[in-house]
This record gives sequence, structure tokens and C-alpha cells, in this order.
Amino acid sequence: MGVFDASCGYEQVVFCHDKGSGLRAIIGIHDTSLGPALGGCRMWPYATEEEALEDVLRLSRGMTYKNAAMGLNLGGGKAVILADPREDKTEVLFRAFGRFVESLSGRYITAEDVGTTCDDMNLVRMETQHVRGLPEISGEPSPATAYGVYRGMAAAALAAFGSESLKGLTVALQGVGSVGLHLARHLHEEGASLVVTDIFPDKAERAVKAYGARAVAPGDICDVECDIFAPCALGAVINDRTVSRLKCRVVAGAANNQLAEERHGDLLAERGILYVPDFLINGGGVISVADEMHPSGYSRDRVMAQVSTIFHKVTRALQMAQAQGISNHRAAEVLAEERMRSVGRLGKIHLA
Ligand code: NAD
Repeated sequence: MGVFDASCGYEQVVFCHDKGSGLRAIIGIHDTSLGPALGGCRMWPYATEEEALEDVLRLSRGMTYKNAAMGLNLGGGKAVILADPREDKTEVLFRAFGRFVESLSGRYITAEDVGTTCDDMNLVRMETQHVRGLPEISGEPSPATAYGVYRGMAAAALAAFGSESLKGLTVALQGVGSVGLHLARHLHEEGASLVVTDIFPDKAERAVKAYGARAVAPGDICDVECDIFAPCALGAVINDRTVSRLKCRVVAGAANNQLAEERHGDLLAERGILYVPDFLINGGGVISVADEMHPSGYSRDRVMAQVSTIFHKVTRALQMAQAQGISNHRAAEVLAEERMRSVGRLGKIHLA
């Protein structure tokens, strides 16, 4: 497959190489019809360059849909740095990355992601202004993400159980990291029962101690009898091996790209399991990061008010899916595409 085939439909793919710092990075800009492309910078020891390219393409397209679905005036982009976050982080590496971001003159705005932190973004900021998610402004996005997942879960509960209350429901959480632990708190405060797992037992133990959760082994979480299964660890967790094992009525969680393939969403539906599209329910973090660009400065209250609308966004997508006989995932995509078309075309009105 040629490069243009692989990046078909993407506006721009930039390969960044700096011998001195050892930087090898790829920036993917999928679509800027709504505004500059915003998406985090992932640092990961990819086995091959092809794997890194595939990841940046998949992730940047996902950001186009997530940003549109959240009602933001932002396009979709993402960056990957091919390196090990535990060993390869240096000041010059992040500054070199920042210079490549700066060279795009604002077409791409970077932020933290898996393998990078708010502090790393402070290094990037030494070379470019096109960076968000800074520690002293919006800080950690995970509380906003968790709150959005919590509100999206309530919308799913309304559709599946007839009440938005999560009290008395059992939620199985896969991954109790930054988002998972905040989500566990919201659920516990509302009176839900929790079953948790994490590949690091001490992380699961935090939820056991703080929120009375029951911990199970990572390999057992898909077999837990529960009302809601919440993937908050990795992508592709709904796959051929897991889909028949789930004993829940709803899948709603923070992880990106939960469906290994789109057909797994159909398999969930055939089993009577309601799937909440990941990019719709986990957009709270990007709302928070994007608010740094608000003309009047960052406001936590405004962010949380906007994040709480995820309840209505999920409800609308689920209703549309039912009315049109399409999958929940496709309905969420259609809503995002509608915004890209309608708001995106405003840019065609010439301003003198
Ligand atoms: P995190 O790294 O803090 O937490 C993930 C947790 O999952 C870790 O504790 C890890 O040990 C655990 N884990 C990994 N593999 C596992 C497995 N096989 N079984 C059980 N546990 C496992 O990450 P996070 O920031 O909490 O993000 C969680 C997910 O949500 C990720 O997929 C991320 O891409 C997505 N997401 C996060 C945000 C955000 O604001 N942080 C926003 C949108 C989407």
C-alpha cells in the first residue's frame, strides 16, 4: 500500500526527525474543517514504524470525531513519539518536538496523552505556543473525563433500565488508573456497587479501600455479572474473545477504541447489550484542554457544565440509532459529521 493510500482522507502527515535529540515522531492531521487540529502526543515504544503510523492515523481520525461530537470548534490531529516513556524522556527531545509543532503554525495543537505528562508539555511550550493541557492552567484532564463518563453512564442507564439513577447497580471497572479511580468515586457516591481490576494490584486496592469495591483478577473482569461494564484501561477490549463472555446490559467506559472492529458493536447489540460510543462518552478531557483557548481564560465551572452535556449527547445518539436502525457507534459518527458539514461550511463564507 502506498503512503497516499495509507493516509487516504487525511489532510497532512508529518514525519519529524532530529538526530541530535533522537526524536522520531509523526504528526497526523486528519481534518481541520472545524478549526485547528487538537489532539495529544503519545509516547510509545512501537515495535515498527508502520505500527506507529497506523496508530497516529487511527488516533487523529478519532480526534476529528471526538472534537466534533463535543461541539468544539476544533479539528482532529494527534502525534506519536517513537520512544519509551520510562527511559527516553529528555528536555531536548520534547523541545525538538515542540519546534516541529511550531513549524505547523497552529494547524496542529498538541497536549498530553498516554506516555506524556503535563510537565512534558511545559518543555514543549518552550518552543511553541501551540500546546494545551498545561499544569498551571487546565492540569490533569482525567477528572473531567471521568465526570463525562459518569454522566454518559447515567444516560445509558436511562435507556437500558428506565432510570438514570445508578444507585444499586453493579459496575465492573477494567483499569483503575487516573480516570478509573475518579469514576469509581462518582459511582460510589451515588450508591453503585463496584467490581474492579487492574494489572497493578495496588491500584485496584485503592478502590477497594476507598470505595468498598471488590477486586478480581484482570483475566476475570469480562466474566463478572454486572449491570454496566466500564472499560477504562486499553482499547480493543470488545473483541472475538470477550464479546460472548460479557454478562452486562451496558458497556460504557473511558478507554479509546473499545471495539476491536466495528462489527463487535453489532455483536454486542445482537446480545442485547447497549454500547455507548467511546468517543462520545470520553470527551470530557478534551473539553477541559480546549477550554484553555477560551477568550476569557480557563474556567473549571464552564468546563464541568459543558462536560455534563455528555448526558444529552449520549441520549441523542442512542435515540437516533434506534429511530434509524443503525448502530450506536454509527449514530454518534453521523452526529459528528453533521457538525463538520454544517459548521465547517461557514469557513467558505469569504471574509474581506
Ligand atoms: P491510566 O494509565 O492512568 O490508567 C489505565 C489503568 O489501566 C492503569 O492503572 C493500568 O495499570 C490499567 N490496565 C492496563 N491494562 C490493563 C488490563 N489488561 N487489565 C486491567 N487493567 C489494566 O490511563 P487513564 O488516563 O486513566 O486512561 C484510561 C483510558 O481512558 C485509556 O484508554 C485512555 O486512552 C482513555 N482516555 C483517557 C482520558 C484522560 O483524560 N486521561 C481521556 C479520554 C480517554
